[in-house]
Amino acid sequence: MTEVGMEEIKLKVRKIKRTRREAKYKHYPVVEDHSTPAHEYWEPIVSRGLWSIKGHQIVKGPWGAGTVEESLKRKPKEFMVIDRAAFALYSHSYGLVSPFFRGLLEGKLKGTKCPKCGTVYCPPRAHCWNPKCRVADCDWVDLPLTGVIHTFTVQCLAAAPFEHQLPFSMGWVKIDGADTTLAMMLHILPRELFIGQKVKIEFLPKEQRKGDLTDCYAVAVPGQKVPEWAMLQKDPKGLESLEASMKQTIEFIKKRYGVDNSPEVRGW
Ligand SMILES: [Zn+2]
Repeated sequence: MTEVGMEEIKLKVRKIKRTRREAKYKHYPVVEDHSTPAHEYWEPIVSRGLWSIKGHQIVKGPWGAGTVEESLKRKPKEFMVIDRAAFALYSHSYGLVSPFFRGLLEGKLKGTKCPKCGTVYCPPRAHCWNPKCRVADCDWVDLPLTGVIHTFTVQCLAAAPFEHQLPFSMGWVKIDGADTTLAMMLHILPRELFIGQKVKIEFLPKEQRKGDLTDCYAVAVPGQKVPEWAMLQKDPKGLESLEASMKQTIEFIKKRYGVDNSPEVRGW
């Protein structure tokens, strides 16, 4: 088939998908569409990639029951290994808490407030979790970009999508005026980090925001003293060992991703 023929088919498939989608969500007409370019890019890849075999290798290796040492003693067999591209494009709704994620796009923090008990949720809950309230639709409130660190963790290991950012600290921040805590990155050196620390919430530049929690991060309000009881700092050996682990992590990330996450470069 010619390339032009392939292009025509892709366009037809796209049109059918779009029509089907619109029919399925007829009670939810599109108000703003920032999604079509993503669909145009991904749908052809997804539809052609799904489970079709892209290549294969013949490899030679040990087999059979027992330990690795035992299987290495047997005559090796040849195996066929196939490569499949299993892609998927998930489209899902944020439902009644959508205003929170739209707020992130605009550099704002929004929470919900139960009109009966007054509990303020950030991250938001559409329904108050107090069963006595029986509230199915809380009110939206604008929250300030300030808060207090409720607890935190310093990470030298992370899941693949976040690995290149290691080492980093994650905090559960109680936004001022909210009764719950919101998880976010802390752009604060572990040496300066403590529970009860006052923070300011900052956002990535607008063009980098995705309407996701990683759009924002916390920085320390300047001029705060680390209290004597602070967990990390009251044990100098523990802190030294943590900083040694972080140094190793920084080296590993530099080798693997070519990025320098040292405090001198990153500032935290
Ligand atoms: Zn309530």
